[in-house]
Amino acid sequence: MKFIKIIFTLLFLFTAQTVLAQMPDRYVILVIIDGARYSETLGDTSGGFTPKIRQLSAQGAVIDSFFNNGWTVTSRGVPAIWSGSWSTPKDTFYNGFQTQYATVPTLWEYFRKEHQQDSTQAQYIMKYLSSPWLQSFRPDYGPAYWPWYILNGSSDLQVWQKARTQLQTWHPRLSVIYLADVDHYGHSGVWGDYTQAISVADSIVGMIWNLVQSDPVFKDKTTLIVTNDHGRHSDGVSTGFVGHGDGCQGCRRIMLFGIGAGIKKGVHTSVKRYIPDIVPTIGTLLNFPTPVVSGVSISEILDPSTSVENEVVPEEFVLEQNFPNPFNPELS
Ligand SMILES: [Zn+2]
Ligand SMILES: [Zn+2]
Repeated sequence: MKFIKIIFTLLFLFTAQTVLAQMPDRYVILVIIDGARYSETLGDTSGGFTPKIRQLSAQGAVIDSFFNNGWTVTSRGVPAIWSGSWSTPKDTFYNGFQTQYATVPTLWEYFRKEHQQDSTQAQYIMKYLSSPWLQSFRPDYGPAYWPWYILNGSSDLQVWQKARTQLQTWHPRLSVIYLADVDHYGHSGVWGDYTQAISVADSIVGMIWNLVQSDPVFKDKTTLIVTNDHGRHSDGVSTGFVGHGDGCQGCRRIMLFGIGAGIKKGVHTSVKRYIPDIVPTIGTLLNFPTPVVSGVSISEILDPSTSVENEVVPEEFVLEQNFPNPFNPELS
């Protein structure tokens, strides 16, 4: 009987060690605010339109030089955020709609495959769209590992209301919340509407963090990362904001800050970083490999305890050293 128990313990240890990486007891929420120009977010030191982002970022880590280094349009910036490279999406016809799909694995595919999680743990939350951009069809990843698409409402506040329910109901390990209104109101050409949309997105970031801090599952275990897909033209504060899409500084320079589990507190970093670095960074935070990205994990904003080296030997393994194993065959 004791022998059988030992065999099962060995089997458990070997399967746990060799097949799957250890999933840290951690949650990641990535917020994409579409097309907010840096000069109206963290580039405005008064925090005029983004008081919450200013306050929260000061408690976390801010990358002072973060850029879109590819195409400064939504259809390329957003897929680059969640695929970790500027690989070209392909056109397709899916469920009766024209859309595009990623040609490399995406954030959710990497996560779900490595940690064998179902889609409740990997969500993509945004407004209602008839034909959202799709993840990859790669044979080694693909639809079996796509996120749970939550397409609901038509405004950022409606997206937030749905996101709140999803977060509280499922406590997903990995959530991406996409807020589209800032870009929409920017293109409308009314400065006051554009800046008002930034203020709403800012308040949503604050409400997400309040939810995290007041939720017993999320509290102290959650990393919040906030970024943009692109900025807006820099020529003329009150005129350039209407458009984007070229290589000007206003279009390229964007915001990235993180706060919470695994992130350094109260630091600004000066290393230049780029959109494709986001996926490998989340890979480090949640301990999954991201083999097809062009970016590099943003190690300078991470706690030393977050590094991959420390996660090669999971805590459980260390704690279970007094169980019999090939290197320590005697029960102490
Ligand atoms: Zn955009
Ligand atoms: Zn521009």
